[in-house]
Amino acid sequence: MVREGKKKAGRERRSSPKGSRDDSRDHAPVDDAIELKEIGDERPLQVVNRRDFVQEGITFLALAGLAGISLRALKPPTTGPDPTLHPLEGPPSPIPGDSASGPSPAGTPVPGLQEASFYVQAAGGKVACDLCPHGCVLSPGQRGICRVRENHDGRLYTHGYGNPCSIHIDPIEKKPLLHFLPTTTAFSIAIGGCNFRCLNCQNWEISQRTPEEVEQGELTPAEVAELAKRDGCASVAYTYSEPSAWYEYMLDSGTATRALGMRNVWVTNGYLNQRPLKELCKVLDGANVDLKAFSEKMYSELCSGTLRPVKDTIVTLREQGVWVEVATLLVPGYTDDMDLLRDMCTWLVKALGPDVPHHISRFHPDYKLTHLPWTPMKALKEAREIARDAGEHYVYVGNVAPSSDIPDPETTYCPSCGQAVIERTGFVVTKFDLEGGSCPKCGESIAGVWA
Ligand code: SF4
Repeated sequence: MVREGKKKAGRERRSSPKGSRDDSRDHAPVDDAIELKEIGDERPLQVVNRRDFVQEGITFLALAGLAGISLRALKPPTTGPDPTLHPLEGPPSPIPGDSASGPSPAGTPVPGLQEASFYVQAAGGKVACDLCPHGCVLSPGQRGICRVRENHDGRLYTHGYGNPCSIHIDPIEKKPLLHFLPTTTAFSIAIGGCNFRCLNCQNWEISQRTPEEVEQGELTPAEVAELAKRDGCASVAYTYSEPSAWYEYMLDSGTATRALGMRNVWVTNGYLNQRPLKELCKVLDGANVDLKAFSEKMYSELCSGTLRPVKDTIVTLREQGVWVEVATLLVPGYTDDMDLLRDMCTWLVKALGPDVPHHISRFHPDYKLTHLPWTPMKALKEAREIARDAGEHYVYVGNVAPSSDIPDPETTYCPSCGQAVIERTGFVVTKFDLEGGSCPKCGESIAGVWA
């Protein structure tokens, strides 16, 4: 099937993102000193749904048991807000930029907790976290917006290390990563916490809680890699919540995974400062980054975050040689403005070239937006055409099954001759017709990591 209305905006004859056009970068220099916003309208933390944990955890427990790995007793769900969680009291002070941050200070460790990286100490026992653009400045006993990192007596610790709440073996197509080792599986892990407050979050039962408020297992980074290897996974995926919130665990697990010859993929909101991002890139192979909207106003309203650091993250990932795919959820009344979507697609092509797969996905009512309708199919079709007209080579419609409206939501077409080279239904690849990463009909290189 030949794509319609497609305009070509250049072509990259390669199989990896290396060599992206640096001169096309149009964003401003990175500035991480972003003012922290009050996160209002927080509903009380609730007991996590035990059924969901069990569903996710069955594989985890089976794997761990088979592997003979000892797990500590799973903690029961809490019955209310964690008494150790102290919300931020007033806006924090701006913190120094990345270059001003030094190594973590030495001191007496807190038993059972891992000291965080990327922070500086300040007067009065405060610490300034330099991991993500929120830049939380925390007094002793306070925890950051991510609900994971906490000031203990003037030192910053993470509550998200070695205590995953979700483990599952997923098809890589579920991440979604459609141009990255198709048909392989990813050993997928998560710890509770997130540095965003997306009104539409589909994983809010783990992302909008502290790690301790969801049931946890115990798995060291080495055990993550060992289990993934034993089960034949090609990669480990850091996913479900926001992995940046448990950065140290992701980084160490990534190092262990690489040592056993597997890849690492990051499914993320992209809200991470440049210095930790570049450190992370040393172990990353692929990433799916949410580009949720293309206006600062909408990022603030929908996610309590900001757009520019996310754009910077996407560009840096490409520059560092990480395979990148981008996901945009069309939330009715929030992110379905077609003019802004056109701006987004134009920026993507200009900044990264035409070969970054773009997943434009259907919203379903969830979390704080249950009053909204599903995204209309008409809007999804229009969005796909806008992305193609902007020059994007690989545009996919996510969260929909093939139908008369959109019969080919996740089909890969050759950008040169229009041949359908990969077809998928759900997470299943039903046709794979590449020869050495190229179109069998015309020989055009199809961008991706195919082996
Ligand atoms: S990682 Fe957490 S504590 Fe650090 S700045 Fe971001 S939200 Fe705040």
